[in-house]
Amino acid sequence: MIAKILLVCVFVGLAAAQGVLNENLRWRVNGARRMAYSFDPSYPQQARQTVLRGIARWNQVLGDCLPLEPRRAGDRDYVNVINGAGCFSMVGKVGGAQSLSLSVNGCVYQGTVIHEFLHAAGLIHTQKRPDRDNYITMHWENIVESWKSQFTKESNRNIGKYSDYDIYSIMHYSYRHPSWSINNRPGFTPKMPNVDLRRIGTGSDFTQSDVNAIRKMYKCPARKFRPIVNKNKKNGRNGDRAAKPISCSNV
Ligand SMILES: [Zn+2]
Repeated sequence: MIAKILLVCVFVGLAAAQGVLNENLRWRVNGARRMAYSFDPSYPQQARQTVLRGIARWNQVLGDCLPLEPRRAGDRDYVNVINGAGCFSMVGKVGGAQSLSLSVNGCVYQGTVIHEFLHAAGLIHTQKRPDRDNYITMHWENIVESWKSQFTKESNRNIGKYSDYDIYSIMHYSYRHPSWSINNRPGFTPKMPNVDLRRIGTGSDFTQSDVNAIRKMYKCPARKFRPIVNKNKKNGRNGDRAAKPISCSNV
């Protein structure tokens, strides 16, 4: 079950705090502000439909700013969706083909699709922001040694602040996770009051701050977006225990 809910994210280049400062890591395809994607030919058809629904949600929210479009002939830089070992993405545009893994074993969910493409667009995990100590208290003693790097702060030399700290961001880790919590104890606790712990890292949709970050990073006009309100509690975002905790490892 651990593998089922494990998201794995790989960082390369200058992974910036919240979002990459290095303009070269931002997407421009043949001069246009867009991200091109393709599916690996072996990517299963059924999973493809779910990924495409996640991409459709992306374009509903960010289509006017940084659309996700199928790779066209001549597109040199593109994200290639693969059925790899876990869920992972590079942070930002690397150049050429870059793999984004959405394993059929646990990664084919709208929230995971959005999360990984946000990495590809240039966002890092929220709890690695240089300013995170203002918002969460770390409990290093509760974190498995090999996972501690996922909680180290990034330098603000590489990292830009593109939106306020959002504990419910789709880029935030859950407060505990079977793969990295020692005895299921929390890796951090929020400093702000009235936080619903179950909502942290379990979202299936953007938050306003996620949208703000991409819009600011890519110099698009700010826009309020309408979150998906799902009244079916089984699939809803708020406090949804069935949602998949977000926890990516650097492997
Ligand atoms: Zn991640």
